[in-house]
Amino acid sequence: MDRLRCYACGATTSESDRYRCSCGEPLWLDTDPTGFEWPADTDRSMWRYSALLPAVTPTGLAASAGGTPLVRTDRLDGDVGATVSVKYEGSNPTGTFKDRGSAVGVAMAKTGTVATVSHGNMARSMAAHAASAGLDCLVFVPADVPQERLSLLARYDPTILRIEGEYGRLYEASLRLGRAHDIAVVNSDAPARVAGQKTTGLEILAAFAPSVPDAIVLPVSSGGHASGIWKGIEELFAAGVVTERPRLYFVQAAACAPIAAAWDRGETTVAPVDGGETVAYSIANADPPSGNRVLAAARRTSGGVLAVDDDAILDARRTLSERTGLFVESACATALAGARALGRQRAFEPDDEVVLVATGTGFTERDLATPSVSAPTVPLADLDDAVAARTD
Ligand SMILES: *Cc1c(COP(=O)(O)O)cnc(C)c1O
Ligand SMILES: [Zn+2]
Repeated sequence: MDRLRCYACGATTSESDRYRCSCGEPLWLDTDPTGFEWPADTDRSMWRYSALLPAVTPTGLAASAGGTPLVRTDRLDGDVGATVSVKYEGSNPTGTFKDRGSAVGVAMAKTGTVATVSHGNMARSMAAHAASAGLDCLVFVPADVPQERLSLLARYDPTILRIEGEYGRLYEASLRLGRAHDIAVVNSDAPARVAGQKTTGLEILAAFAPSVPDAIVLPVSSGGHASGIWKGIEELFAAGVVTERPRLYFVQAAACAPIAAAWDRGETTVAPVDGGETVAYSIANADPPSGNRVLAAARRTSGGVLAVDDDAILDARRTLSERTGLFVESACATALAGARALGRQRAFEPDDEVVLVATGTGFTERDLATPSVSAPTVPLADLDDAVAARTD
């Protein structure tokens, strides 16, 4: 099953260290879903779907990736104009869905060294999974990355290289490096990562089986997660265990929204943009390697791509913690901000089942957006009065 296939032109290759098709588009791992049925075993992790995953044996941290909760969030229904649930990826081992991809990427690595181009969630996830598997991990970060990001990453003791020069060109460079130095490079849309990340989609659909949710809304940056979720849905469709596809809606931050811009222009290819600053820094890829594939996923599922501004993102993040108890990173709150915008455009019926993917926890993020907190100081002797007089 290590054959790779191009979603765009259908070409296949068995050179397992390839990442891209000769047509330029990203490759994904070919799967034969014939005969797949919803698994009955008791494994709650993503490996429950091993029939659709590469034949590897996950150990350590990898074995515990995925299996995240789907929380029915009725207090968001009014905001979105639908029946809303949140798939909470923050409960993965390092706090984001990236663990699903890292688990497969590290388990498939045929060499002693894995590498990734990231200075955020993917870097932390790879370093943690490599530590658990006893592999060396090489992380390429921009030279000017803030110390607080490095310190979170350094806890897992990867080799960190701070790269001077155009960071955007590192994706290409790292693929060459991988071949030259026999390193398994697991970037944002590497076939192994996409294979692992499709399990988000499989778990969501399993939760609604034999029915199918009407729509799934998620933040998008490189397009690796979106590609995986789309692939997972197509596999279930091919297996015949679902007979409809949910509409896939992808949300970007307005300051850096190349895929939404291409969608608005009705195009099938994404052009790079000059990305600006946004609170949703984890999804600010100005030249997304799987951007065209995301456009295809939105088109073929009758969904869409949209952008939301930072005020809407921060407001959505606040709403998520205050009305669902789920504290997420700003990047993830784009899902709710986007769903609210779609609701205003009447994209949903009130009884539509809409799933927001909260891609990662907020606990890894330094909070720049919340003003200082005021709370009254109460002498112990006055406690009864203070409780009786409380207002909210
Ligand atoms: C990586 C990431 C995304 C974007 O995923 P892509 O696969 O790059 O599109 C969204 N949210 C969080 C929290 C992430 O870490
Ligand atoms: Zn191709």
